[in-house]
Amino acid sequence: MKDLIQGYKKFRELVFPKKRKLFRKLADGQKPKYLFITCCDSRVVPNEFTQTDAGFMFVERSIGNLVPYPSAGENEAVAAVEYAVKALGVTSIIICGHTECGAMKAILDPDSLEDMPIVRAWLRNAEETRRVVAEKHGDKTGDALLEAAIRENVRVQVANAKRIPCVAELAKEGRLEIHGWVFDFARGEVEVLDETSDAVVALENYRTGDDHEMNA
Ligand SMILES: [Zn+2]
Repeated sequence: MKDLIQGYKKFRELVFPKKRKLFRKLADGQKPKYLFITCCDSRVVPNEFTQTDAGFMFVERSIGNLVPYPSAGENEAVAAVEYAVKALGVTSIIICGHTECGAMKAILDPDSLEDMPIVRAWLRNAEETRRVVAEKHGDKTGDALLEAAIRENVRVQVANAKRIPCVAELAKEGRLEIHGWVFDFARGEVEVLDETSDAVVALENYRTGDDHEMNA
């Protein structure tokens, strides 16, 4: 644990003093704009690649960034969505997959989960992804197949999130945006998945509804 203690000391000495005001303000309550749903993978650090501070994003992580709804009933991911939307009033949900995702490799090779019955059970929530990939990408193999699975999985989870009643209601009124991203950690690049086609666009070229705020 020495490395963690060293990092903590650095945080205490160099980082925290500069952010003391922010943390003091956050003690009064959180008001994040974003719900960020991503994979547990250690290589995906959303606050790092979006350069955002504490209090900015409510983060839900699961193996494979899944939002298993509605078939799976109550679960952590859907509870996080409901809480973020209803209690915190987030105005955007981002569901972010990533390159080299072990969960997506596993759904393409279920035998690899033989020794991990609990992971296997969790990944049954990605059955829709597996079905879409088999239907649309049966001609692909290797890296191309994995890339397709990663993107299709994000699309499936975006669709699942939109079925959650509180999300559906606010999205319909234009008060909540839902975006699908894929983070390529080896390149340090994020792509945004188009909602209605297979197209992708680099995040820096993406036009969003709150652009006027960013430009203000
Ligand atoms: Zn992953």
